[in-house]
Amino acid sequence: MNRLSDRLNSLSPSATLAMSQKSAELKAQGIDVINLSVGEPDFNTPEHIKEAAKKAIDENYSRYSPVPGYPALRNAIAEKLKRENGLTYTAAQISCANGAKQSVCNTLLVLVNPGDEVIVPAPYWVSYPEMVKLAEGVPVIVYAGIEQDFKITPAQLEAAITPQTRALILCSPSNPTGSVYSRDELKALADVLSKHPQVIVIADEIYEHINYIGSHQSIAQFPGMQERTVIVNGVSKAYAMTGWRIGFIAAPEWIVKACNKLQGQYTSGPCSVSQKAAEAAYTGTQEPVAAMRQAFERRRDLIVKLAREIPGMEVNVPQGAFYLFPKCSAFFGKSAGGFTVKDSDDLALYLLEKAHVACVGGASFGAPECIRMSYATGDEHIVEAIRRMKEALAALQ
Ligand code: PMP
Ligand code: GLU
Repeated sequence: MNRLSDRLNSLSPSATLAMSQKSAELKAQGIDVINLSVGEPDFNTPEHIKEAAKKAIDENYSRYSPVPGYPALRNAIAEKLKRENGLTYTAAQISCANGAKQSVCNTLLVLVNPGDEVIVPAPYWVSYPEMVKLAEGVPVIVYAGIEQDFKITPAQLEAAITPQTRALILCSPSNPTGSVYSRDELKALADVLSKHPQVIVIADEIYEHINYIGSHQSIAQFPGMQERTVIVNGVSKAYAMTGWRIGFIAAPEWIVKACNKLQGQYTSGPCSVSQKAAEAAYTGTQEPVAAMRQAFERRRDLIVKLAREIPGMEVNVPQGAFYLFPKCSAFFGKSAGGFTVKDSDDLALYLLEKAHVACVGGASFGAPECIRMSYATGDEHIVEAIRRMKEALAALQ
């Protein structure tokens, strides 16, 4: 009998990956689809990182690594945290995994008991509530709309905390909104948390380097916070290494040990060759990171300018990451050519069918009035995608 677990049945598929798959299928049929769905840099991995991986193969880095990763990689990460974030960690406080995705999931699985609440500010990255459910926890969604730049306030956080709250997942710069919490805003959230010592912060800083407003700020920097913060980061976005699958946590040792125990039974250490590549990423020149950040900023300016020319679209100015998250509810209830757009998922479908532009509906990010476009693509694709969208949206009556 084809019976699946309740755990699996309660899970939604990843909307970002599903939309990207759909757009790849249409492309394979010869349709000229512009894919703004999945969030990954369009750049290739920098040469010196690829060279390090080739060398690792030749030097027979082909066996199981320690579960949390090679000491050399964890030391390189500890140095990165000191150099870039001013935070002191030992290698024993770092655990590497198969991407930051696994790092977030490991953390939730080791911290959350059935019924524990995890605060997830919305709009959120699609996988957070699903991972909380996988850990049998209860996602508590705290919504922040475009009028507050998609950022929760200290009062909202305070109101959401209960004796059952186990963790808060904070993503800055944010996927899907591109919003960045300032140092003062983070400090204000930390002040609220100081009154609730049972709450662990899972600080997803994967977009750290794609920040257009200055230096990255981590909530771990405030007094008392490092002892209760799990920093999540990795090489996927900063170094254009999404396929290599290396992420990490930097956290108190009791949490790191627990993640290592889980990972030891579950997936073992991440890919040995990728670890050597990631080590080169953290220890080598940081010039490619700056060059990619600059390119993303130029594209951000371009897409904001063009999207603001579409009547009915409400566009904020993202300060980081590589997503635009406009409010599009003005189009809901309108129709064209027999297609009625009821909600954001319909809108994404309409844009895919009529404009051959792949976006992701906001509902999967907890913001059903928005859609997400990734601008991690060439300028010419951005210009053409917005041109097509403008035309298709103008047809909606
Ligand atoms: N967190 C956020 C907010 C993301 O957007 C992503 C990208 N998918 C990840 C974590 C996971 O990154 P990866 O597993 O590729 O390291
Ligand atoms: N972070 C990317 C996105 O949100 C990658 C896809 C995923 O892992 O969900 O599109």
